[in-house]
Formats: sequence, C-alpha cells, structure tokens
Amino acid sequence: MNCELISVGTEILLGDILNTNAQFLSRELASLGFNVLFQCTVGDNRLRLLSVLENAAKRSDVIILTGGLGPTPDDITKEVCAEFCNKKLIPDKESLDKIEAFFALKNTPMPESNKKQALIPEDAIILRNDNGTAPGCIMKKGDTGLVILPGPPKEMIPMFLDSVKPYLQSLSSETILSHNIRTFGIGESAMSEKVSDLLESANPTVAPYAKNGEALLRVTAKAESREKAEALMKPLLDEINRRLGSYIYGIDANSIEETAVKLLREKNLTAAFAESCTGGLCAKRITDISGASQVFHCGIVSYSNEIKHRILGVSEENLSRYGAVSAVVAAEMALGVKKLSGASFGISVTGMAGPTSDDPDIPVGRIYIAATDGETLYLKELNTGHSSKDCRDYNRFVSASNALNELRLCALSYPEKRSEGTDIKEFINSFKEV
Ligand code: ATP
Ligand code: MG
Repeated sequence: MNCELISVGTEILLGDILNTNAQFLSRELASLGFNVLFQCTVGDNRLRLLSVLENAAKRSDVIILTGGLGPTPDDITKEVCAEFCNKKLIPDKESLDKIEAFFALKNTPMPESNKKQALIPEDAIILRNDNGTAPGCIMKKGDTGLVILPGPPKEMIPMFLDSVKPYLQSLSSETILSHNIRTFGIGESAMSEKVSDLLESANPTVAPYAKNGEALLRVTAKAESREKAEALMKPLLDEINRRLGSYIYGIDANSIEETAVKLLREKNLTAAFAESCTGGLCAKRITDISGASQVFHCGIVSYSNEIKHRILGVSEENLSRYGAVSAVVAAEMALGVKKLSGASFGISVTGMAGPTSDDPDIPVGRIYIAATDGETLYLKELNTGHSSKDCRDYNRFVSASNALNELRLCALSYPEKRSEGTDIKEFINSFKEV
C-alpha cells in the first residue's frame, strides 16, 4: 500500500514549528508496512491544497492530512477535502455535544466558531477526539482513502493510535512485525559489513540505520499472523545475534542505560561515576531509569583538577604532567570513585567536549573513558571527530553513551572479567616510570 502525508499549515512552511507529525506518522506507517512515498507541506490555502490533493490521489492508496481542523477561518482542511471529494458538510450531533461538553468542563462559554468543527463530510467515518475539540475523519475519493487528523500532536497521536492504526491494519490481510536490534560500539558500515549477505533478504527484510552515535538493524517480516511473522524472523535474529555478539545491547531496548540498570539489578551489582566533561550526564541518564536506586551509588562531577585530586585521589603530578584529559587520569578517577563509593564498578569520563580545546595536543572530541572493578582497568580512547561550533552537546552525549556502555559490558560479563582488561595498579604505576 502506498501512502502519502500532507502536513497543512503556513506555520510549518515559515519554520515556526517543526513537523514532528510527519516524523511520527512516517515511523508508524513504516512499522505497519505501508510505503510512504511522498511527504508534502502546504500552507493554509484552498487552491494549493486542492492541487496537492489532486496529485496525491493519483499516486497513493492512502493520504493522511494533519492540521487545519481548528475553529478559525484559516483552518480549512476539512472544507477543502470535502470539496475535493464532492461531499457536503453536515453537522454531526454527537461531535457538537462533545465540543459543548468540552467547554462546559472547562467552565467557559463555547465560541460560535467552534460549531464548524462539528461539521463532517457526508459518509465520512468520524474519528472522535478525546483530547481536544476537533474530530478527525476518514473519507474516500475513488479508491483512495483520505485520513484527516488535527494538527496538535497531543490530539493527533492518540487519534492515530486508537482509530487510524486499526483502520489501516484492516486494509491489509498481512501482519507486519518489526524488531529493532540496537548496537553500541560499532559503526553503521562495520555493522552492515558483518551482516551484508543478510541485507539481501526479502522477507524478513533487514535494514541498517544510524542515530546518535549508535547503529541499529531493523528486521521486518510480513506474514498471515504475528506468530508466523515471529517464526519467520527467529533464525535471522539468532544469526544476527551470533555475528554481532556483545555489540548488541538489546532487541527493542530503549537505551543503553536501561539495559545497564537491568543487568546490574539482575546480578546484584552497583556503579558509581566520576565525570568531568559530561558534567553529570551519566548520572542523569542512569537515574532517568526507574529502579536505578538499587544499582547507582553516586556521581561525582569532578570538573576542576583540585577536586579530581582531593576527592578522587588523582595524583597532582599526573594531572600536571599528562593533563586532565589523559588515560592515566581517567584510570585514577575510576579507581578513586570505586574506592570512595564501594560500588562494584567505578566509571570515569574525561575529555575535550569543545568547541575549543585549551590544550594544543588534544583535539576537540578526544575523550577517555575508564571502568574498573578495583583490580582490572577497561580503558577506551574515543575521538569523535566532531569539532564544529555546536559539537559540545553531541560530544558530551556520545561520551556518556560510551561510559554507560562500558558499565553495561562490565555487568554483562560479570562474574567473568572482560577479555580486554589490564591490571589497573600496574597501569597507573607505569606512568610514574616515564
Ligand atoms: P487547532 O484547533 O489548535 O487550531 P488544527 O488542527 O487547526 O488545531 P493547526 O492550526 O494546523 O491545527 O496547528 C495547531 C498547532 O498544532 C500548531 O501551532 C502546532 O503547535 C501543532 N502542529 C500543527 N501541525 C503540526 C505538525 N505537522 N507537526 C508538529 N506540530 C504541529
Ligand atoms: Mg488551527
């Protein structure tokens, strides 16, 4: 089924608002197995909307419009769609009662203009709005379905999920099911190479994506039922699991931190962070997860060298000789917070978030991440390569993701050690001898 999105609103054309409706709908439609072939934005203008509808109806099975269902004169989507389909607008009593009740609940008189929201094109399926005053509707132009939804996302999203999604599912006899395999620590192209032959598969399909420094694979199967779609995907998911191993932090998982907290809880382990350039972002992200109190001891934002030394015990000599952004300081910070907290693992982050670097030898985007159980050190030097004017947020976010991932890997292998570790005390001592 081919689907097309029309976002109506001059505000979107002017750049006043971001078209998040199109993003939401495209994602939903892809997961339902609809092909979104065109997205278009048009202002609140009758002739231009008619011309866009004309094109869309020629090439798409379903057109979804959002915006312009409000009570003001510039809200014309329903009127123009009714004209396009040669349908009259007729008052719908239930919709009017609902709009009146909505105002009664708010204890404000209903403006006369709101009455127009209860006008519905004849023969349309009405989509009730439990979060606002404008009902949506579904109508037909020949074989093409027109789905008309309100603009505000808090109204549009529940209306889509409650009414439109089941309608669209009923148009297709097939079930389409997707799983997102989320990975960390491997780039999109390296990940794709490992599974390149699987990307050729027709059903299920396997598609790579990259986002926020992460790579993911979306596996989608079409079958008569959910069970059959799952069965079709199982061998492929097993094979991907075998090839990508611990790069995978979860199938349909929400975030690395969620997986890390889950693993720590399952194994009765705890964590503490010593953060410099991330300024508490690791602690923030881990405490975003419900149940973090069972696994998270503390986060020290040791931004200044003095605090790195006084609270975490980082050697002043190393700080002045190697600088705060160095492997040895990262190791000492991790060991310091591990000892201070008594947590199972101490994790540290120190780096140059940018956009400027205060050390000519250290490029913006270089970050050291250390993790330790008190004996073994797992060290990562990260060079994000991002140094543009607005790189700071990205560098900090990716640094925190890497630190959280180090914690996840420590918890994953526990009680075994990870293969790539070194003795932390020997590592720190080796810097004294230089
Ligand atoms: P209202 O009754 O609020 O006027 P409406 O259905 O007429 O609703 P619009 O007037 O087009 O919708 O937009 C109202 C508000 O909804 C916008 O100011 C914006 O905040 C939000 N909105 C509209 N379209 C979009 C979109 N495509 N993406 C994200 N938000 C949107
Ligand atoms: Mg409006």
